[in-house]
Amino acid sequence: MEGVHLVRRVLTAATAALTLTTAGTMLAGAPGQAAPTAWGRPTVTVAPQPGTPGLGDTYFPDYGNGGYDVEHYDVRLRYEPTSDRLTGTTTILATATQDLSSFNLDFLLDVESVRVNGWEAGTSTAGVHELVVTPARTVTRGQQLTIVVRYAGIPSQTLVGGYTGWTRTADGALAVNEPESAWWWFPSNDHPLDKATFDISVSVPTGVEVISNGLQPRPPLAEAGNRTRWGWRTTSPTATTLAFLAIGQYDIVTDTTPGGQPVINAYSTSLGALRPAARASIERTGEIIDWESGIFGPYPFEAQGGVAGPVDGIGFALETQTRPVYGPSFWRRGANTYVVVHENAHQWFGDSVSVAEWQHIWLNEGFASYAEWLWSEEQGEGTAQELFDFTYASYPADDEFWQVLPGDPGAARVFDNAVYDRGAMALHQVRLAVGDDAFFEILPAWTAAHRYGNGTTAQFQALAEDISGLDLDELFTTWLFTAGRPDVASAARTAAAPAAPKSWAKIREAHELLSHR
Ligand SMILES: [Zn+2]
Repeated sequence: MEGVHLVRRVLTAATAALTLTTAGTMLAGAPGQAAPTAWGRPTVTVAPQPGTPGLGDTYFPDYGNGGYDVEHYDVRLRYEPTSDRLTGTTTILATATQDLSSFNLDFLLDVESVRVNGWEAGTSTAGVHELVVTPARTVTRGQQLTIVVRYAGIPSQTLVGGYTGWTRTADGALAVNEPESAWWWFPSNDHPLDKATFDISVSVPTGVEVISNGLQPRPPLAEAGNRTRWGWRTTSPTATTLAFLAIGQYDIVTDTTPGGQPVINAYSTSLGALRPAARASIERTGEIIDWESGIFGPYPFEAQGGVAGPVDGIGFALETQTRPVYGPSFWRRGANTYVVVHENAHQWFGDSVSVAEWQHIWLNEGFASYAEWLWSEEQGEGTAQELFDFTYASYPADDEFWQVLPGDPGAARVFDNAVYDRGAMALHQVRLAVGDDAFFEILPAWTAAHRYGNGTTAQFQALAEDISGLDLDELFTTWLFTAGRPDVASAARTAAAPAAPKSWAKIREAHELLSHR
């Protein structure tokens, strides 16, 4: 993500308390009873339990849910741009990971019905965003679940603490936000630990475009009532927050890269004079991904592209999987390839390798920001060392910036400047410590080891130590987990004011739009 104006409330305040709705759950929490078996060895029988209302994320404990693992979401929607009314049926294919008396989905819109393997289930709500589903029949561990949720609502008017992650625009809407996005358009297990594939289809009035992740398995289909149904499919494991919708008036540009990758770009027709700068940036996506592939390892997904959102849409950019979405502000002063480099670096760092907990967000933002420094080096617009020195000098030692720990910024500051800039600085320190050979071996080794999965800071440190043969504990502690400006040996420490590298203005402009303290 870049340019998040995060004065956002922490949406975690209310922790969900499960509402127990069936007699069966009365046993929840009772100790297991040991029963002797025929051969005398006791086995423990435990009554089916409710799935936990969260996955225990340190910062967002009630995001995601326990007790099941999702393989696929089939999200079938109907949307009215004039009223913002969304109706939908989402079919979730999942596997139970324990015996379940009930389980939760993260969702906010009004639910009409839920069926589990064809049987109508009981539902209730709890906490801020918890839909509690009580199946008619007990679910056993390992059981395949087909969960069908029918629902409706007006997402832009469905507020949590005055906030909605759904952006209504003059001609449609954007479902683009991190980490809270899915709650407003499909029920889910909303945490990067549970990735799944997606089929997303949306019926809109004919003449309105719908863009989403991956590829179009078929052309848009005419429906009765002068409507058109758009379909998108991604076959790569996708975190729920990286699924997206862009609905409105768009010009869609398709192509194929020299390497055979399908490219689908979309430009809001509202961009007007900003459109050439948007095109001059986003149309370079293929070139940028090829360059990044040479550093980070093979591009992990089946398609690429970008969406230039409308002038009344989002004020940031997000690394939505296979196709980042960019707010219009990035193009105000001409083309900016740095934001394209940043969001596409996230396809490796954030999308394919996602955080195991939101605390590890610097593994996304520090790395995507460092990719901009590498691009600057490649473009001859200033080396990573020059950018490090200038960044270091631009935050005085007494600046509050140095009080935020990139490795543990706190839930309210996951998109703080320090996560981006000090995160990139930390990675540069790793590069200086291990040397270029080891550093450029560590990056693709990391994306290979955790491809389509999750990672933690400790795992990254262990990998860097393994490849370099060095103990990096002090470096990681100093740069990620200690308040205050670390001492450095380089020119930054003594130079009163290093000259700004050529790339600085573009990088700064992108980051200003993004992270704010
Ligand atoms: Zn980012």
